[in-house]
Amino acid sequence: MTTHQTSLNASFVSLVGAGPGDPDLLTVKGYRVIQSADVVVFDRLVSKEILALAKPDAEMIYVGKKVDYHCVPQDQINQILVEQAQLGRKVVRLKGGDSFIFGRGGEELETLAEHGIRFEVVPGITAAAGATAYAGIPLTHRDHAQSVQFITGHVQKGGGEIEWASLAQSNNTLVFYMGLKQSGRITDKLITHGLDENTPCAIIENGTRKEQRVFQGPLNTLPAMAADAESPALIVVGSVTQLHNKLKWF
Ligand code: SAH
Repeated sequence: MTTHQTSLNASFVSLVGAGPGDPDLLTVKGYRVIQSADVVVFDRLVSKEILALAKPDAEMIYVGKKVDYHCVPQDQINQILVEQAQLGRKVVRLKGGDSFIFGRGGEELETLAEHGIRFEVVPGITAAAGATAYAGIPLTHRDHAQSVQFITGHVQKGGGEIEWASLAQSNNTLVFYMGLKQSGRITDKLITHGLDENTPCAIIENGTRKEQRVFQGPLNTLPAMAADAESPALIVVGSVTQLHNKLKWF
């Protein structure tokens, strides 16, 4: 493999996306980088099979978070990365899905950049791509959707309001991350802004994992579906979700 580390004391961090759940969805590059890490700083949604790829003597640091409950505050995670890199260790920062999609990867890299620590980014398959693929739901389809948007259901740090009117278009697929608890609000906002209450929807729980479950129903039943679903789950809104019936394979 190629490595960017030139000497033992060269600070270096690889920011690696582990994919959505099925360990086989890790990239070949991610696989190699994890195998050569001295320390792996990882989140809750990373599969144990992927963690097991690390060297037996690699230090494993868990900094997992849940929505509404941050085990380790973000500042402290940033600090751990800086400290470990400055020790001259080869650090892998391992996150679920892709680090740049609702993963705070950008924030962590900004801290590293401020400390002059070099880094690389190894992309991962984000939940929206992985879970819909395993559910047989194409995110776009010429007969159904010409665009797709990824939205966080979690209330944001800056408090910025979502542009609901631009989301509520019938030829658009919407994928909400962290949306289960907000499903009532999402449903109300979309209907208020003109989306038909019968628009087909799906919830994909534990996408790409053996336990994967797919719930389907019209938009006006979304809160009821969400009440039966467990985290991690994605809410998918749009007529592409009907294709699950024809294309489900997993
Ligand atoms: N960076 C990650 C997303 C982190 S936010 C990525 O790119 O996928 C966490 C949210 O991702 C969860 O609340 C859920 O909405 C979604 N998610 C992650 N893994 C998932 C899975 N296996 N199935 C369904 N949703 C998942």
